[in-house]
Amino acid sequence: MKLIIASNNAHKIYEIKQILSGEFDGIYSLAEAGVDHETVEDGSTFAENALKKAREIAAITGCASLADDSGLCVNSLGGAPGIFSARYAGGGVEHSTDSENNAFLLKNLEGIADRSAYFICTMALVYPDGREIVAEGYMHGSIIDSPRGAQGFGYDPLFLPVGESRTVAELSDSEKNAISHRGNALKDLLSKIK
Ligand code: IMP
Repeated sequence: MKLIIASNNAHKIYEIKQILSGEFDGIYSLAEAGVDHETVEDGSTFAENALKKAREIAAITGCASLADDSGLCVNSLGGAPGIFSARYAGGGVEHSTDSENNAFLLKNLEGIADRSAYFICTMALVYPDGREIVAEGYMHGSIIDSPRGAQGFGYDPLFLPVGESRTVAELSDSEKNAISHRGNALKDLLSKIK
């Protein structure tokens, strides 16, 4: 069976192909599958958003589809920015740049001692016959006072994983993948597929 990944993000697609290549006859991005479709992410949880994306692509293509939704949750901010991670500085509506989001997060954490946080990634795999698998992965850590490092994306320059002295933006791709929420979600997914 073919798998269509509901994304055109090259980093995600590379990582997914590495881990799931033995399980499918071919793994394709939306662009490789010739699909031009944007899902409206209006769910109230990561799982709802991931399932919505995967269901739509499975219905359009007739192939198995894998979608993910991910974000940063800061404990002292009641789990924010959460599902609004990409749109945090834009009030949860407009997409904002990574540096705008990072600056907004630091402002909201001014004077707050508890900097503990985690990244979460939820993956939804939907088969054309309606079977669905939902998997989840986490990376725990804390938010530092000012950005460090140039790798990765999003909140990586502010996030110090538990047991690390480097931020995620100071890790190589393979070091990040080995401990990341996305890597852990893919491992969970693989064990559930098997
Ligand atoms: P998406 O699920 O790829 O759309 O990610 C949503 C948002 O969560 C991104 O725009 C980032 O702000 C944040 N995010 C998700 N995963 C990561 C990560 O691995 N590092 C840093 N930020 C992330």
